[in-house]
Amino acid sequence: MELDGIKYKLAMNVSSDVLIIGGGVMGLAIAIELKLRGASVTVLSRDFHAAASLAAAGMLAPQAEEIPPSPMLELCLRSRSLYPEWTRKLEELSGEPTGYWPCGILAPVYEEARGKRPEARGNQEEVAQWLDRDAINLYQPGLSSDVVGGWWYPEDGQVDNRALLRALWTAAESLGVDLRDGVTVEGIVQQQRQVIGVQTSVGVSRAEHYVLATGAWSNELLPIPVSPRKGQMLSVRVPNFNNSFPLQRVLFGSDIYIVPRRDSGSETLRERRIVIGATSEEVGFTPHNTPAGIQALLQRAIRLYPQLQHYPIHEFWWGFRPATPDELPILGSSPCKNLTLATGHYRNGILLAPITAALIADLIWEQKSDSLLDHFHYSRFYRNKSQNNSPSPLLPRSSLPSIPKGGPEPPLLSSHPSPKMQTLVSLEQSIDRPLTIAGKTFQSRLMTGTGKYRTMEEMQQSITASGCQIVTVAVRRVQTNAPGHEGLAEALDWTKIWMLPNTAGCQTADEAIRVARLGREMAKLLGQEDNNFVKLEVIPDLKYLLPDPIGTLEAAEKLVKEGFAVLPYINADPILAKRLEDVGCATVMPLASPIGSGQGLKNAANIGIIIENAGIPVVVDAGIGTPSEAAQAMELGADALLINSAIAGAKNPAAMARAMSLATEAGHLAYLAGRIPVKAYASASSPLSGTISS
Ligand SMILES: Cc1cc2nc3c(=O)[nH]c(=O)nc-3n(C[C@H](O)[C@H](O)[C@H](O)COP(=O)(O)OP(=O)(O)OC[C@H]3O[C@@H](n4cnc5c(N)ncnc54)[C@H](O)[C@@H]3O)c2cc1C
Repeated sequence: MELDGIKYKLAMNVSSDVLIIGGGVMGLAIAIELKLRGASVTVLSRDFHAAASLAAAGMLAPQAEEIPPSPMLELCLRSRSLYPEWTRKLEELSGEPTGYWPCGILAPVYEEARGKRPEARGNQEEVAQWLDRDAINLYQPGLSSDVVGGWWYPEDGQVDNRALLRALWTAAESLGVDLRDGVTVEGIVQQQRQVIGVQTSVGVSRAEHYVLATGAWSNELLPIPVSPRKGQMLSVRVPNFNNSFPLQRVLFGSDIYIVPRRDSGSETLRERRIVIGATSEEVGFTPHNTPAGIQALLQRAIRLYPQLQHYPIHEFWWGFRPATPDELPILGSSPCKNLTLATGHYRNGILLAPITAALIADLIWEQKSDSLLDHFHYSRFYRNKSQNNSPSPLLPRSSLPSIPKGGPEPPLLSSHPSPKMQTLVSLEQSIDRPLTIAGKTFQSRLMTGTGKYRTMEEMQQSITASGCQIVTVAVRRVQTNAPGHEGLAEALDWTKIWMLPNTAGCQTADEAIRVARLGREMAKLLGQEDNNFVKLEVIPDLKYLLPDPIGTLEAAEKLVKEGFAVLPYINADPILAKRLEDVGCATVMPLASPIGSGQGLKNAANIGIIIENAGIPVVVDAGIGTPSEAAQAMELGADALLINSAIAGAKNPAAMARAMSLATEAGHLAYLAGRIPVKAYASASSPLSGTISS
């Protein structure tokens, strides 16, 4: 067989056409779709019961979730429209119910949110209907008296995700999909951008094509930014005295949803349940329900629908949503020609199962790539920041955790490849891209200065040893021929080093603007005709040398208008950084700690936020005292460092310059490589997470 137009010459037993890693809703749905098209399919899954797909609430709620118009909304709507036919087909194949129920979703609004929600949903008016207090109580009697109205989404609905998973499993089995639960894939073995097998807990398995559908655990096998977002849930039983089912629609409240489960199959009248969810916690794979989590859910649920307080509790459980930084799934091709990705569906994976299965099967089996897939390609996380500057349609950039930027393509090293099969990938070659500031590219990510050296010779040697390509020069010190600055023009080779004039010594915006203009002339005199860079420093405070944020912003705005590439030195203030970016600065340069203090990275948390949100390079400036601190700043995801005092003041400045250069590079590479998550506990080899406690 030929897949993706490529013939594989594998001297091994090819067990199937397609091997799918992960047996949650994605793995099973894709397996069935491929099988129906004629492929032989194997599914390997570590633990069927740990799947998020079993823990979910099963809401099909693109509109109640207020997903804004975007490719994601289109994906969700297409998927929702597939649901009736998809579940009918599954029920036919499996003989089992799926619990699909197009019951609509009510989103009640409390007094305190009145006025906000109607406007917020203004553009959804075609698909949602506003109900006032009386009307909403007709749709759903028994709501809290705090509810003043709400939105009705008639096209949203739900599926009983546990019933759906049973049906998927049975349908896959009956079609002849080779389903293996209890098998862990430990590594994806690749050679020359092809997967040549997967190493599993029971030996090596091979196929012609592979699909990664391992949900929240995807990052264990590939360096893609998928992380677990824990959700705790519970359910109550509908008491027997209620002959009719009290809830007829999903209630989608603020931070709470209440999902009635109609009988599906084995569930008798006595087992009618109402599902209540869910927390959203960034606690890694920490298992178990917690009193705080359950208390929060119960409080919110009882407030919304008070009679729940009398219902017997049925079950508590938890699961791990596969979250990505932009909350969008990762779908489609990978750097390996025969590996397809279907993961990161975060909080909408049940909804997105039918469309994911159809698009992925089209891609693998028919080599047909729906244009919608382009929006969900893994490479969006590895593009150069300047190309990838638009915020996610779902989420403000401020809530994005930091992800590798600067252009790496994930090397796709398997986590435990067999030594014979492992192909070493040159990390530098495969994942790095140079630093680009205002359209100018630099290979070195370390910038240095010319101040504080004991001799001109030490300065020259240090700059050479640092390998830096940008050197900042205090315009005022050159003007006044301050010690160490005489003969600077001749001391360095300005054809190789880019001068970054700085406005050190300026206490006001006006002064800084004047000095910036002089700096531009100075660069011209050195032969750098096109050098419009300026490191903007406005520092009225002479004790701590902390910059004036207002003066800096004011000067930056004016200098940008005059055509300068402005690199402002700032305190590590994320809001200011964003404002400076908005006015057109070329970088931001937050301080690690006060200038020359050598105190190291005191502002790590805020610098992390700046990095997370920046669409321009972030250069950590000032305060770094040691190479380990330099590495730490780069590991945070900084694009570059500016280090002067720690080099110039060292006993052996040239040696320190070299050490700083190595540390900058090591920290950057470590950032690209992706550190392991910090865990509160040891990580057991057999996961206990996701099991259902009753
Ligand atoms: C509390 C909660 C509520 C939710 N509510 C909704 C909702 O209302 N509507 C909605 O649409 N979505 C909801 N979701 C999201 C949805 O459940 C997920 O997006 C979806 O289930 C992801 O499916 P999946 O197949 O990618 O991953 P999973 O269902 O997690 O399956 C992944 C499988 O891969 C296996 N695996 C992992 N690593 C390996 C390995 N190395 N080798 C072999 N197998 C491996 C795991 O054991 C697991 O069985 C909710 C999720 C949670 C946690």
